[in-house]
Amino acid sequence: MSIFIDETICNGCKGLPEARCERICPGDLCYRKENTKAAIRDQSACWTCASCVKECPVQAIELRLPFQICSSGSSLKARLKRDKTIWTVWDAEGHQEEFIIRTRWLKGD
Ligand code: SF4
Ligand code: SF4
Repeated sequence: MSIFIDETICNGCKGLPEARCERICPGDLCYRKENTKAAIRDQSACWTCASCVKECPVQAIELRLPFQICSSGSSLKARLKRDKTIWTVWDAEGHQEEFIIRTRWLKGD
């Protein structure tokens, strides 16, 4: 597995002193380049925890999945909601599927 950051989507967390992906990465691997786009210092040091994938507000970061988990060329992105994480997986042909992981139970659920 590896992390890919799409520079055409990343907005550099404009206005924030520290980018969200920089702040959340437990390995201090994410940083902003001079052009303000995010990058990863060392892919080999990344343990694919997916924290940055979940934290990016514009879904610029994806987790590339190995063929042992999904078909070749598949990726995973996430959207964080108050009580759930919505994961989207898609394959090389562009087929998409969403699945939801509940992260907490709200009153009335
Ligand atoms: S997947 Fe985890 S360790 Fe890897 S860059 Fe993202 S936050 Fe850091
Ligand atoms: S959190 Fe997303 S938008 Fe913000 S700097 Fe990182 S990749 Fe770019």
